[in-house]
Amino acid sequence: MKVEKNKVAYFHYTLTAVDGDFSETSAKSEPVAFLVGHGNIMPALEAALSGAEAGDEVEVTLEPRDAYGERRPNAIQRVPIKHLMSSKNKLAPGNVVKINTAEGVRDATVVKVGRFNVDVDTNHPLAGKTLKFQLRITEVRDASAEEIAHGHAHGAGGHHH
Ligand code: ZN
Repeated sequence: MKVEKNKVAYFHYTLTAVDGDFSETSAKSEPVAFLVGHGNIMPALEAALSGAEAGDEVEVTLEPRDAYGERRPNAIQRVPIKHLMSSKNKLAPGNVVKINTAEGVRDATVVKVGRFNVDVDTNHPLAGKTLKFQLRITEVRDASAEEIAHGHAHGAGGHHH
């Protein structure tokens, strides 16, 4: 069975930034599940997986515009420490914290810590990075009518209600 619209595909991934300062893998957890054709993962990643089958390995390199976007230069914000959603012991430059913004909760990187305020970079930590994904499809199955109606995969690796 191939990865195509209205199938549920499961995959393991290793993600590395080509500049070498980030890497992440799903190897120690369950595979990621997604409903194909419903915008659940990055379009460029979905395009790369399209037509693959269980057991296939796919490698794809995404430019920033196809991944987390370019870095915005004026994205440093001064935020009162009490407005941060993270515990105080994470407040060191380079650490990622969660902040409330008009667009909802998002990750930001601590740039500078003051007594009452902290300067954070609200670019996504992977913004501006070219990312290499090494993917291995572990399973492809038909989606249920309920999954298609909801627009996401259910069960292990997917959405839990
Ligand atoms: Zn659902």
